[in-house]
Amino acid sequence: MSLRIDQALARASELSGLSDSADLDVQLLLETVLDKPRSYLYTWPERSLTMPQQQLFEAQLQRRISGEPIAHILGFRDFWTLSLEVDSSTLIPRPETELLVELALERLERRPQRIADLGTGTGALALSLASECKLWQVSAVEFSPAAAALAERNRVRLALENVDVLTGSWCEPLRGQFDLIVSNPPYIDPEDPHLYQGDVRFEPRSALVAEDHGLADIRRIAEQASACLNPGAWLLLEHGYDQAEAVRNILAAEYYQAIQTYPDLNGHDRVTVARMIEAL
Ligand code: GLN
Repeated sequence: MSLRIDQALARASELSGLSDSADLDVQLLLETVLDKPRSYLYTWPERSLTMPQQQLFEAQLQRRISGEPIAHILGFRDFWTLSLEVDSSTLIPRPETELLVELALERLERRPQRIADLGTGTGALALSLASECKLWQVSAVEFSPAAAALAERNRVRLALENVDVLTGSWCEPLRGQFDLIVSNPPYIDPEDPHLYQGDVRFEPRSALVAEDHGLADIRRIAEQASACLNPGAWLLLEHGYDQAEAVRNILAAEYYQAIQTYPDLNGHDRVTVARMIEAL
């Protein structure tokens, strides 16, 4: 029995309670299985999938029903204006992290600038910023060799010559001074029960969890970055919705000023920015 597109879309009901984006998940599966844009699904709802398409759709839907993140099933996730390859070696880029890109763009000038992205994962932040201005030179640092290889594949596929992927811990592989540093580090408390629910179960703990109630890596970055930033240069950090005050205190104890927190689209405190003092 052949499956029509509208019938396939209705299979989203099998994901209710399992996914908070059930309709979107099924649309994304169908787009890739049919290799058509979303508009096609609603223009031709009565068209049928071929047998191989149907088999692939059923197999992928089952994977989603068993909890696997949609980005891992598709192998790609859209972030900013880019489509990024993703795998289980690192975090799946989140929409709220695009706030870091916006806040960085507001602080960068269209002239040669040196940018670093610490813990780049897929390369999401580094590649998004590099794609906005060819004059900017971006160092993308990643500790996990598998994730660094993934970031490098994304860099090559997107043909972004102004990015260098470096392997190492936070600021350690950086050379020279920078005008802006961004990071979406691990910041989840090891005790957080959310680690055992939903998509995060399929992401590496090293990309999610930090000691000291999730603040250990943010503290290391704040300390190390102060030696790598030019006077007046910016540090932008993503953090948990309830960590803004703690992050501001960490930054205030180092040589930072103009410390400010911004909410994400859900209204949660998500990014804190700070500026290296001009001179001692
Ligand atoms: N915001 C992510 C989550 O709650 C965590 C991202 C991170 O640790 N950097 O799943």
